Amino acid sequence: MAYTNSPLVSYTLLSPNNSGTRTHAIDRITPHCVVGQCTVQALGQVFYPTSRQASSNYGIGYDGKVGMYVPESKRSWCSSSGANDQRAITIEIASDTTAPYAIKTAAYNTAVNLMADICKRNGKTKLVYIANATTALNYSDNGQKSNEMLITLHKWFASTICPGQYIIDHLPDMVARVNAILGGSKRTLREEAQYMIDYGVNGQARKNQAVADGFTYEAVQAEIDLILGKDKALAIDDLVKVMPPVKLNTTSDSVYYLQMELKRMGYYNGALDGVCGEQTEKAIKALQTNWKKVYGMAVDGVFGAACWSKLLRS
Ligand SMILES: [Zn+2]
Repeated sequence: MAYTNSPLVSYTLLSPNNSGTRTHAIDRITPHCVVGQCTVQALGQVFYPTSRQASSNYGIGYDGKVGMYVPESKRSWCSSSGANDQRAITIEIASDTTAPYAIKTAAYNTAVNLMADICKRNGKTKLVYIANATTALNYSDNGQKSNEMLITLHKWFASTICPGQYIIDHLPDMVARVNAILGGSKRTLREEAQYMIDYGVNGQARKNQAVADGFTYEAVQAEIDLILGKDKALAIDDLVKVMPPVKLNTTSDSVYYLQMELKRMGYYNGALDGVCGEQTEKAIKALQTNWKKVYGMAVDGVFGAACWSKLLRS
């Protein structure tokens, strides 16, 4: 694929600090924090002297403007890793000088737009962020699809805080917004669950990843449980057969159990009385609305066998 540059660039000052033409196709983006709320012009001056021995492909000023210092066709000197910079577009983003190295809203929004633009022009329909360095680099070597762009972090390759805790904490949101712009091909729920298992994405990282990939955490977790526990799944199938449907005006122990589960998941805040009133029915519909997005389930306020099957597996 021929290399191009971003149309978002409004200032160019080419830096001599680069290794010439890349030896690897672009399949990574590495965001950095400048540790200074500077303009793209100021950053250009930093990278201009050969004495500096540093550069980046792009810079984003505190005001959201985009500067270019090394064209995408060339390898910048940015991430303390030649191997990474051969395949990454590096972006320096103006940030505070102290932890957590926050970036301004204008720079944040531009970072999202620039990353989406880089993905599009380089034939990528999905941006992937995996928080764990070992997991991410293993994925890069063994699992990354040709339509995927991977986020990598400077701190994975050197003893540095870069890109700073603020950017790290916001990457799931940034990636979700980039993917919303790209509208790229989405994994199926089963593929997403299998991916979490194969690459050991656990805990908070699993929650962030599920949201970034456009799923609810509960749905992904239910699918993972299903994959990992065939015996459990069979037992649940037997149980589902005897669970009575819950709808408006039904009264049973099952309603009580369902109210507890709805409360635990944050859909219901009413009494645990075993009576399905309007508030319980509303909670059922809210849960079904979320399930509909991933399972295509009806939103009818009737909690039948299919719903029990999903709930008991979560
Ligand atoms: Zn850096």
